[in-house]
Amino acid sequence: MSDIIHLLPDAVANQIAAGEVIQRPASVVKELMENAIDAGTTKIQVVIKDAGRTTIQVIDNGKGMSETDARMSFERHATSKIQQANDLFSLRTMGFRGEALASIAAVAGVELRTRTADKEYGTLIEIAASTVVKQEPISCDSGTSFLVKNLFYNVPARRKFLKSDDAEMRHIIQEFQRITLVYPDIHFELFNGSDCVYELPVSNIRQRITAVFGKKMRNISQQLVQIEAKTALGNISGFVGKPEFATKTNYQYFFVNGRYMRHPYFHKAVMQAYERMLQPDTNPSYFIFFDIDPAEIDVNIHPTKTEIKFENERDLWSILMICVKEALGKFNVAPSIDFDTEGLIDMPPILSHQQGPIEPPKVQFNPNYNPFKTESTSTYSKPTNTPWETLYTNRPEREQSVEMPQNQPLFDESARADVFPYKNRYLLTTVKSGLMVVDRQRAMERIMFERVLQQLELQQCVSQQTLFPEVLELTPDEQLLFQELLPDLRALGFDIEPFGKQAYSINGVPALMTDESDILGVLHAMLTCVSDKNRRVHTELYESLAYEVAKSSARNKQKTMAVEEMNQLIDSLFACQNPNVTPDGKVIVTIIADDELDKRF
Ligand code: ADP
Ligand code: MG
Repeated sequence: MSDIIHLLPDAVANQIAAGEVIQRPASVVKELMENAIDAGTTKIQVVIKDAGRTTIQVIDNGKGMSETDARMSFERHATSKIQQANDLFSLRTMGFRGEALASIAAVAGVELRTRTADKEYGTLIEIAASTVVKQEPISCDSGTSFLVKNLFYNVPARRKFLKSDDAEMRHIIQEFQRITLVYPDIHFELFNGSDCVYELPVSNIRQRITAVFGKKMRNISQQLVQIEAKTALGNISGFVGKPEFATKTNYQYFFVNGRYMRHPYFHKAVMQAYERMLQPDTNPSYFIFFDIDPAEIDVNIHPTKTEIKFENERDLWSILMICVKEALGKFNVAPSIDFDTEGLIDMPPILSHQQGPIEPPKVQFNPNYNPFKTESTSTYSKPTNTPWETLYTNRPEREQSVEMPQNQPLFDESARADVFPYKNRYLLTTVKSGLMVVDRQRAMERIMFERVLQQLELQQCVSQQTLFPEVLELTPDEQLLFQELLPDLRALGFDIEPFGKQAYSINGVPALMTDESDILGVLHAMLTCVSDKNRRVHTELYESLAYEVAKSSARNKQKTMAVEEMNQLIDSLFACQNPNVTPDGKVIVTIIADDELDKRF
């Protein structure tokens, strides 16, 4: 094979936005895997030691490099992928900056072994501190192997900036997952020391998703609906999760031209398509692949290239929204009657008009019709806009806390007023200044939250054994995070034991959780919360745990309450430090003042 690498002219080099290419071990893994893919490999092996601090090795069976190219590849702005500025607009490769290898060689020791198929011998190059210290012919497999040693050995500041081994390994696994999801026709392996984390044989996209995310995605054909749109602006394909499989945790992935991207704006299009189909607090999974003319995207916008700008963003937004909506409609997954509505009191209001250009096929139903219940226990809001409805519909996103009368007793000291339940959702009672309305579930959330938090802080949690142990299955990255949280979870009263390779058996839960609590749901939600917000501070971790336990326990107590229970709830609420709002800021109590009531008559 002839030599193909050349130096970019300065002008072009400057056009390519500069950026820190290598921020952490995961960046090295990403760059080396992308290079292997650009080299047409059909198999990639990644071997990590000490979370990438001491060793990162990426081995491919791609086209390899000639002796000159091998040496040249470490020069800054050395690339075989573009020749001139214009080429930037027709890129189909993952790399193009010619910066990755130069950057890696500047902060780590590198051993490169590479051979092209037409040569009997390959080349070994060893680099230390950006200088070639060894170059010699060797016999090796055709393809390329990069061994990156002692990352950041000469940049102590960077080394200090790295997180725990578990956290860095999680980043590596996540980069690995993002790449493997787009290339099911490539065989991938990932080793953490001698442990095989992933072995992903060549397959199709569906099988690859299952292989990457494991049991949760095992009945994938039931869970996912295929989407497809071919337009002049580009093609969109992939899978979206049926609403009934939406959970607190989810897998949401966008890719464009074989590259993972983050795209909050397109995310909104997907969520819009699901409007009114999801239970509160749940998110659908999606794996959506854009195939767009490279001239119409600008991958240059962000140095690590996960945020990508599209020329026709608004039109693609609508195409995406409609195509997801149609797919969900076609598979008859529009809202259906659910008789088991106990506990679902936070259903969003049903609006009579719906915005957006296209309506999905609709299933007609009367949301109030329920043959098994009397009208008074219906937990649905009525579709017509009664004044009460209007209040509810116009509710601002994050409600302000109510002004509770300060410095004066809330209740009459003399006689205790009766408490009345209203629609299984509110408790009504008289207070000095008027009629007090308490949102029952929110009150319970607040009470549970403060109780759990207190027990957690005092390390006083009592555990109760579950009747049947539940098995929590995790992906390798989730498992690393979970491992970190185990001591805190145990302190909270969870009795958790490892169960097989990437699973835990939950034998006991905090006594505060009820029998019906969705134990696995709470743990998954807590994991998502902790990893999203990068909450490592103890108190914050406690808060998110307490919050999830509280929400789950409160939600399952929707039975009709006895008078004493209602009184007790109100007492406990006002014994709380902050009785006015839930931990996530929703109003719990409101008072309709006497004069407000009087005005109505
Ligand atoms: P870029 O990928 O942006 O071109 P890199 O610094 O990542 O820049 O790589 C420089 C060049 O080295 C690539 O353009 C390619 O020609 C060559 N190269 C790197 N990795 C491999 C590989 N695994 N197999 C074959 N060639 C490679
Ligand atoms: Mg590259």
